[in-house]
Amino acid sequence: MAWSYNRRMTANPLRELPSVDALLRRDDIAGLVEVHGRERVVAALRDALQEARAAGEARPADRLAAAASAALSRPPSLRRVVNATGVIVHTNLGRAPLAEEAVRRASEVAAGYSNLEYDLAGGRRGSRHRHLSGLLAELTGADDGLAVNNNAAAVLLCLAAVAAGGEVVISRGELIEIGDGFRIPDILRQSAATLIEVGTTNRTKLADYVSVLRPETRAILRVHQSNFRMVGFTESPSTAELAAAAAAHGIPLIDDLGSGQLTDLPSLIDEPTARSSLEAGSALVCFSGDKLLGGPQAGVIVGTADQVERVRRHPLARALRIDKLSLAALEATLELHRDPARAAARIPVLRMASQPPAEVRARAERLAALIGGVVVATTARIGGGAVPLLELESHACSLEGGERLAARLRCSEPPVVGRVQEGRMLLDCTTLQDSDLPLIAAALAAP
Ligand SMILES: *Cc1c(COP(=O)(O)O)cnc(C)c1O
Repeated sequence: MAWSYNRRMTANPLRELPSVDALLRRDDIAGLVEVHGRERVVAALRDALQEARAAGEARPADRLAAAASAALSRPPSLRRVVNATGVIVHTNLGRAPLAEEAVRRASEVAAGYSNLEYDLAGGRRGSRHRHLSGLLAELTGADDGLAVNNNAAAVLLCLAAVAAGGEVVISRGELIEIGDGFRIPDILRQSAATLIEVGTTNRTKLADYVSVLRPETRAILRVHQSNFRMVGFTESPSTAELAAAAAAHGIPLIDDLGSGQLTDLPSLIDEPTARSSLEAGSALVCFSGDKLLGGPQAGVIVGTADQVERVRRHPLARALRIDKLSLAALEATLELHRDPARAAARIPVLRMASQPPAEVRARAERLAALIGGVVVATTARIGGGAVPLLELESHACSLEGGERLAARLRCSEPPVVGRVQEGRMLLDCTTLQDSDLPLIAAALAAP
């Protein structure tokens, strides 16, 4: 006995660490295997054992199991949050949630192979840029169209393809900042086109444009004032007037619409549509996939056959291309737009923007019944730099606790993001779904 006592005293304490196999036989670990799969659990156990070895400690099995369990349930960095801000296209919260149809399509394409760049009829190489041509033509009246990574990329690509080495004319009233410090003049510079500013901040006349057109001019650029509005003593030529002036000079009018509204919506939203811009004579029109279109992050370019072909053939088109998951989701979203009533019912951004105020109020009442607080009238917004003046009648559940409660809810799982107003926490129900309500209740009940 004395001998074995001594031997144990001198043995490496790490030999006392259980094996992965022994840990896997524990009931609590078996439970983890059911949830996370054997492979992930084994990896987590190995990490826990490795950590114990690095610390030189013979940690007991309980502690190792707990460490593995904690590591497995740690949330990922990018994860879903509950949007209780009342801002529908919230730039910081991932903009547009996708329609179920779009999620399904992206998931199918993600899980397997696809004909992304394969011509099934001909059995040869195809182009990813062809998948949307027909749908975009149908929905906007354009000859042709394609999608790229986002709308900033779409504008950059159009300018690079059409105007590099030449001049682009733009009104001083449209030299806007899109957000997060990205400004139209910066994008223009990257396209290697020279910016020619005309007019003043609030007034630009057709003659201002016409007076600077010369052989070096390659395009007129029009940029929609998406995220602000100018009122009062203002003037700018119509799209049709600008398009006519551009055509008379033999150059295209490029129209950056920003928000990407495709059809006249059943509400107060009054953004220019791609169809109206093309009908007015624009040669290239760009818009976002994840603002009012309600699809994935993407930039859509539609226009005349020859101009779209120039864009498609430009080397930057390869660098700015859309990925297959976004392409799949975008096609499914555009299909929904074929029928405006179906789009309004199925696309979350449009559904939220057009839901009856009574429905939002009823949701706020259900939330207040669950978590306490009072129902208050609020104003929801489209957000995402679209229709800035539009106020949507909304209701929120208002709670005491202000910033402190807001901070706690942001750290719950899933995180809940609301807004704080005059010391109260508002959970705006325009952007909440019924399935979010129990999640909020659970977050509030958590210690
Ligand atoms: C939002 C916006 C952009 C940028 O679109 P992203 O899809 O965010 O890249 C460009 N121009 C206008 C007018 C916009 O409103």
